[in-house]
Amino acid sequence: MKPFEKPVYVTRPYLPPIEEYMSGLQEIWDNQWLTNNGPVLQRFTKQLEVFFKTPNVCLFNNGTLALQLGLQGMRLTGEVITTPFTFVATTHTLYWNKLRPVFVDIEPDHYTLDPEKVEAAITPWTSTILAVHVFGSPCQVKKLADIAHRHNLTLIYDAAHAFGVEIDGVPIAKYGDLSMFSFHPTKLYHSIEGGALVFSDPGYKKIFDYLKNFGFASETEVVMPGTNAKMNEFQALMGILGLKRLDELIEKGREIETIYRERLTGVPGIQLPLVQSVNVHYNFAYMPIEVHEKEFGMSRDRLYEELRKYNIFTRRYFYPLLTDFACYKYVQTNDPLTIAKGVAARILCLPTYYTIDANSVDRICELIIKIGKQ
Ligand SMILES: *Cc1c(COP(=O)(O)O)cnc(C)c1O
Repeated sequence: MKPFEKPVYVTRPYLPPIEEYMSGLQEIWDNQWLTNNGPVLQRFTKQLEVFFKTPNVCLFNNGTLALQLGLQGMRLTGEVITTPFTFVATTHTLYWNKLRPVFVDIEPDHYTLDPEKVEAAITPWTSTILAVHVFGSPCQVKKLADIAHRHNLTLIYDAAHAFGVEIDGVPIAKYGDLSMFSFHPTKLYHSIEGGALVFSDPGYKKIFDYLKNFGFASETEVVMPGTNAKMNEFQALMGILGLKRLDELIEKGREIETIYRERLTGVPGIQLPLVQSVNVHYNFAYMPIEVHEKEFGMSRDRLYEELRKYNIFTRRYFYPLLTDFACYKYVQTNDPLTIAKGVAARILCLPTYYTIDANSVDRICELIIKIGKQ
């Protein structure tokens, strides 16, 4: 089989028809208002309030700063129980708030925090649980809420992957005290760069608004040492245009996943993700598989390299584990993180995005099967 002529990446950003963005630009030009809570950002915020079914929404220039300032605004201290199987930014936000990460293991089914291990790791210094809806798969939200309630802990979700996900018809942001969404172009849905906090206590709205705008309460009053993390008008415009297409993007993801499942089910050594339970409205943002070396006949890393030769650029999310990075290597962990270590060694995310055609997905599957037989 021949390599793809053009590189096939794990993802490609959604781009709206350029005329739509241009006409939005005209509005921005007419307004002569580029950032600092402009009219387009205000409109985007209103739309997201409807989308998330709550007025407690605050927008930021990226997801990392959203989460970092969310933790800061909630004045959390001490230890935070969190996962090693995530993007580095999750843990970095703890560092910037002088919070101590306590890593515990994930569950094998959806790669999310194991509630039992969370509970076992609670100490008198624990203030918070920071869980991640990995690949958009919901955490065990009810169990985590119960643990947080019984131990009086704050429950925060890194929902960077989970935009559009619902449980029992309820937006995933409604679970927990605070959720962060990333609108980076590598995600299913984006605003060029951007992030959102959705929270349950309306009292935080003001604080988050201060924190992202230097702490300004008025022209002459600065009430806290904030930073600059505002979303600008160009980002908000992209966000508005993408939101109109979200359902289409999710539907396309569902179609692609169906092909992968049809073609790869039963291939020795290739493990597909568990199908989401019926009460979950999933967003199909990622297509992770696990490569079991013995049965497949080749390691995950070899398959990754072989696919590159065919111009297919898969990604090993999340490898290495956070606890293997130089800056977190020395964080003491009591949990052996057995499952997370295994998954990090086997995981591979396959290309899925709205412009990939069924034919290409077919070819990728054929190649994986062919490479495995070599
Ligand atoms: C992308 C991502 C972030 C960071 O979001 P940015 O908008 O890129 O700052 C945080 N956590 C997870 C799990 C992510 O995938």
